[in-house]
Amino acid sequence: MNHPIAILALQGAFAEHRKILESLGSETFEIRQAADLEHPCGGLILPGGESTVQGKLLRELELFDILRQRIISGLPVFATCAGAILLAEKLADDTAVHFGTLPVTIRRNAYGRQTSSFYISGKFAGVKGAVDMPFIRAPQIVSCAENVEILASYGGQPTAVRYRNQLAMTFHPEITGSGMIHEYFLKKVIDVQ
Ligand code: GLN
Repeated sequence: MNHPIAILALQGAFAEHRKILESLGSETFEIRQAADLEHPCGGLILPGGESTVQGKLLRELELFDILRQRIISGLPVFATCAGAILLAEKLADDTAVHFGTLPVTIRRNAYGRQTSSFYISGKFAGVKGAVDMPFIRAPQIVSCAENVEILASYGGQPTAVRYRNQLAMTFHPEITGSGMIHEYFLKKVIDVQ
């Protein structure tokens, strides 16, 4: 049996992830403080929100080093939007780096004010049928290393990628009411580790 899935619950859209995972039959728990890291953990959700706030809180609450080490050691991680920014090895036009475990370069708030939020429906490799993809003040993956698998794209740029144990996307599958992408994480990232 898999261990419960940890959901980083410092800021942002963490409750939505929890609801979907539980509807799919997964046990979950929230990470809000260092003591929460003592739970056995089978996977980690890094939700959307505000990456600068999350990065600051991760460090202040002394969660940062342990979580980074666990990601490097192979803990399956599913990151959406701000979560993907936390994983990126490099940020375009920005000197900040957070976990830096995913070999991609990401540009924050890349769609500008006019089109900062929009909705598309598209293909996602390994998932049957069209997937709803809401983008909210979304970042763009502007480049990625050769060994990063591209699972979805929009306008010629990757919107969902996988690198070993790390699944990251620039949109928000947790607010669509569909569990397709969470199911992908449970079956194709966690179960195959
Ligand atoms: N713009 C946010 C950031 O830079 C990300 C937006 C989101 O998570 N929806 O952190």
